[in-house]
Amino acid sequence: MIEGRTGSFEIVIGLEVHAQVISRAKLFSGAATRFGAEPNTEVSPIDAAFPGMLPVLNKFCVEQAVKTGLALEAEINLESVFERKNYFYPDLPPGYQISQYQNPIVGGGRIILDMPDGSSRAIRITRLHLEQDAGKSLHDQDPRLTFVDLNRAGVALMEIVSEPDLRSAEEVGIYLRKLRAILRALGTSNGNMEEGSMRCDANVSVRRPGAALGTRTEIKNVNSIRFLMQAVDYEARRQIEVVEDGGRVLQETRLFDSARGTTRPMRSKEEAHDYRYFPDPDLVPLVLDREWVEELKRSLPELPDAKKARFVKNYGLSSSDAAFLAGDGASAAYFEATAQGREAKTAANWVMVELLGALNRKGLGIAGSPVSAESLGRLIDLVSEGTISGRIAKEVFAEMIETGADPGSIVKEKGLFQVSDAGVIEEAVDAVLRRETDKVAQYRSGREKLFGYFVGQVMRATEGRANPALVNELLRKKLAG
Ligand code: ADP
Ligand code: MG
Repeated sequence: MIEGRTGSFEIVIGLEVHAQVISRAKLFSGAATRFGAEPNTEVSPIDAAFPGMLPVLNKFCVEQAVKTGLALEAEINLESVFERKNYFYPDLPPGYQISQYQNPIVGGGRIILDMPDGSSRAIRITRLHLEQDAGKSLHDQDPRLTFVDLNRAGVALMEIVSEPDLRSAEEVGIYLRKLRAILRALGTSNGNMEEGSMRCDANVSVRRPGAALGTRTEIKNVNSIRFLMQAVDYEARRQIEVVEDGGRVLQETRLFDSARGTTRPMRSKEEAHDYRYFPDPDLVPLVLDREWVEELKRSLPELPDAKKARFVKNYGLSSSDAAFLAGDGASAAYFEATAQGREAKTAANWVMVELLGALNRKGLGIAGSPVSAESLGRLIDLVSEGTISGRIAKEVFAEMIETGADPGSIVKEKGLFQVSDAGVIEEAVDAVLRRETDKVAQYRSGREKLFGYFVGQVMRATEGRANPALVNELLRKKLAG
């Protein structure tokens, strides 16, 4: 909900995501699909639309689409049809793209959003269909000429369309991250938006609460989740202003300008293409064997939702912590290795707060972490055995992240062992109480908040190494006496 000048508005968003299928060969040809290859080195005569070439469907791409559909709890259509979507563009040699229209391979499904407050919300998926990507026009290689690179032409894409169920830019971000996590867990797409292997169009409209759906605009081809969230937010506010000024939102396609953070018109509905779809006469309808689909279903890996539920059940994590860790395969595996034989919540905190925080600051991913899960586990053990205090552990961790050194060696080398010798701590406590006579008097006359101050002073005197439980116990005894 957004507050305008004249009351509140609801934002309505539906997303169309194009995810590049992980496959060594293209959807209808045997040409390779490596990212970043020399231009026009991965092009077969089919991709270049030489006369008389015939497309041959790549079964592995079909398998990838079906697996994705199953993971989205969607209906798998045992019969689907490839159609030609006709338009002219220099990087589209045949003059049409092979896509699916009336009969897609996957029908209605859903994606569960894990909201920050721990609740969940289901977003309906309308369909998923297979189609070919187009080539790429390169406008920046020559002052006068445009070059065409056909490496991407014919690469398999899954277009995943949602119902207009999303209600905020925040939900858009959660949806895309969740979808990406599912695709990555399945190995059906790497979901890298920077490389263009996941692209997203957002359809946005606004309405008064309870009113019918408003006219939508479509924001095309934004290449990062953060930018898409900005674009949706800007576009919703722009539409609210139009409505509040007594105007009408025009159905049009808009482009996001990331430098300005605004959207601007690209083409209106009147200029929209008529693609003249018709079934591709070169391809028979795609018929799937029910048993084959069932077998794929049985072979699906553990998906983020199941992982989240297991983390809650087996490790006692909160729903939002479980969703966070389960949302990324590498973080989930790291957490499980760290939690092995240890207090799971403690392990989760170390991974989510200290480890991911530090890696983030260094611009590293889990895969590049200088601290292994085994090593972080040993650090946690040092605390639980009472060898070092929690505060010292953070210092040790800071060093581990820099040097990758073993926590035990750091503790030994720097003499960071926790002092649990009651005699030594008692001496420190006595010294502090002797020095702070004013505060002791205040405390005894009722300013109990000062207790934390005394603890701090004793910790300081022992360079943070005193066993906090013992410090507390001794201070209470002496202050009471
Ligand atoms: P098209 O084929 O023109 O792109 P679709 O009907 O397939 O149109 O819809 C595309 C996307 O637009 C879907 O994700 C759908 O949920 C979304 N959508 C449809 N109507 C609205 C609306 N009024 N507001 C926001 N999104 C909408
Ligand atoms: Mg569209």
